[in-house]
Amino acid sequence: MGLAEITQRIAAAEAEAGRAAGSVTLIAVSKKQPDARVEAVLEQGHRCFGENRVQEAEAKWPGFRDRFGGIELHLVGPLQTNKARTALGLFQAIHSLDRPKLARTLARLAQEEGHCPDLFIQVNTGEEPQKAGIAPTDTDAFVAECRQLDLPVRGLMCIPPVDEEPALHFALLAKLAARNGLEGLSMGMSGDFERAIAQGATHVRVGSAIFGERDEG
Ligand SMILES: *Cc1c(COP(=O)(O)O)cnc(C)c1O
Repeated sequence: MGLAEITQRIAAAEAEAGRAAGSVTLIAVSKKQPDARVEAVLEQGHRCFGENRVQEAEAKWPGFRDRFGGIELHLVGPLQTNKARTALGLFQAIHSLDRPKLARTLARLAQEEGHCPDLFIQVNTGEEPQKAGIAPTDTDAFVAECRQLDLPVRGLMCIPPVDEEPALHFALLAKLAARNGLEGLSMGMSGDFERAIAQGATHVRVGSAIFGERDEG
């Protein structure tokens, strides 16, 4: 597939949904991809990338940033509180705000550092016990708690259960966001980003459809 095709498909999905061209941000998820593939996408002019591990991002991106200007980096995977300060220095957005303790840590660090990335609250829409995220019924209260901490919450994020129709989860996330006056919707991956755009996604996180299969070793 590759970047050009995914960009085209996003534009088509925006049009199909009656949404403005360019209203969806493509986060190219480069986790576990060889540097050469990431570099190829940078060479094509793309600047918005996602990683799911702080350590991997820390190893990979400073070098690219020395060579390519304007890179915007999004953390899409779990964040341990002891890596939060590093994350604050590395990422322009964090999509995995999933618990009160992390909210309090980010609020304190944001005070100390004088800035904070854009935040998306991860909602466990499928209420899967093994998955991170705030339960749908706890979302309103958690959004309020984050706002009280002065955190820049831009939206909600979800990863639907693998064996369920994702559109139902996208619709639930959109409803929770609207109810809380949040505009950002981080939802949709390689297999379902068009359905996510139909439901209002503002940020799609696409990895393998751009870069090819990951080296899971
Ligand atoms: C890996 C990952 C993606 C990208 O997945 P693909 O199926 O390769 O598009 C998106 N979101 C999160 C949270 C991920 O961990």
